[in-house]
Amino acid sequence: MSKPTDAATTIVGAGAVGCAVALHLARAGWKDVQVIESHDVAEATTGQAAGLVGQVRSTVDRTRLAMASVNLFSRLEKETGYPPDWRQTGSIRIALTADRAAEFERMAAIARSAGLETEFLSNAQVTDRFPLLDTTAIRAALWCPTDGYLQPHSLTTAYARAARDLGVTFCPHTTVTGVDVRDGVVEGLRTSAGDIRTDLVINAAGPWAAGLAAMIGVDLPIIPVRHEYFVSTPTPGWSPDLPVLRIPDLHLYVRAELRSVLCGGWEARALSRDPRRDPVVPIEPDWDVLTGFATDLETVVPGASQLRVAEVFRGWPAFAPDGRFVVGPVPGVRGFVMAAACNAHGVSGSAGLAEYVMESMRPDPSPYVQSLSPARFLPNTFDWTDAQTKARAVYENYYALTS
Ligand SMILES: Cc1cc2nc3c(=O)[nH]c(=O)nc-3n(C[C@H](O)[C@H](O)[C@H](O)COP(=O)(O)OP(=O)(O)OC[C@H]3O[C@@H](n4cnc5c(N)ncnc54)[C@H](O)[C@@H]3O)c2cc1C
Repeated sequence: MSKPTDAATTIVGAGAVGCAVALHLARAGWKDVQVIESHDVAEATTGQAAGLVGQVRSTVDRTRLAMASVNLFSRLEKETGYPPDWRQTGSIRIALTADRAAEFERMAAIARSAGLETEFLSNAQVTDRFPLLDTTAIRAALWCPTDGYLQPHSLTTAYARAARDLGVTFCPHTTVTGVDVRDGVVEGLRTSAGDIRTDLVINAAGPWAAGLAAMIGVDLPIIPVRHEYFVSTPTPGWSPDLPVLRIPDLHLYVRAELRSVLCGGWEARALSRDPRRDPVVPIEPDWDVLTGFATDLETVVPGASQLRVAEVFRGWPAFAPDGRFVVGPVPGVRGFVMAAACNAHGVSGSAGLAEYVMESMRPDPSPYVQSLSPARFLPNTFDWTDAQTKARAVYENYYALTS
């Protein structure tokens, strides 16, 4: 365990995003990089994530981001020696309505233009791949063979170890309490282990990112929204090689966790925190919401409503009101870069997001990366109440029909 020291670059936060950025900087030859973390690697939101990695998205840019991440997950162990526990099981996206089936056609077309392989399955083929499903209600099933899932803690530890091998220093159990800015230039950080000088701060503080930005006097609407899922006791027929299921008409995702069922979803009435005054605190399971997931799952998985819950995972992933990442330098303050607002996509999207952070710091980022800039919310172009309502709507509509 290191204490923070003066460093050219300091990343705040050792979740999936901070560690992915650390590895990308180190691989690009950056020297004198340190990561400061209040707790330990992957102990906050990242450690609670379900680890689903889905590449079929509603835009080509998001699809390419997810493909870049899968590409890295597939070669990470070979390149670094550290396994992310990545299982390329494939995934099946299930439609229960005609409108949803039509949406899948559009998504398959987007996948095609991004170069991602997908295929529609007959109900018999669905049964071959996932014998536990009752296919009666299924109107369409879209298969993506290169999807899968990983263990978020393993992935993040792999990033961190590989970054450390390339010279990055990690300072766990240290909290950043202030940022020193003089004449619009970052000069240093105040931390629970003392003050340090640094030229560049990268804000990868997850649901605490708005609080960190506030330390330089900047308001950014990065809103923590509650999310949870359950893991059942071992259940006959479930095994780790089953594909991941997404059932957007029921707002549910499902996968096997060893021999148990992991089931989460996007409930209709989300809870958010106001980052200006509500601390991001641990939460109790909401049994009404979790029971609702199991009951809805019964539609395609007979017996699901009788599952026995062994463990509940939960946290506050950070959402932006427009559902997009907040990535890049903060205008008007030299040396402060955002890597936040993952919109519950921060594990699977971590590798691609780290590439965007790198690109945002180059002289001529692409129009897409420019569009992720925190500049879109500055100076104070938003209302906090409205931002929370919109962030909750992004969450509630995670699997809403896209046109
Ligand atoms: C139940 C659940 C299921 C999810 N499932 C998935 C999934 O299947 N796939 C997916 O891609 N995503 C999923 N997510 C979302 C995913 O977890 C997040 O998008 C991702 O973990 C964000 O990573 P992060 O590094 O930005 O944040 P975090 O993991 O929260 O890391 C931020 C770190 O910053 C540190 N920090 C904050 N402030 C300070 C400070 N002042 N000083 C020092 N350190 C500080 C914190 O301690 C923390 O460790 C899920 C989330 C939840 C809660």
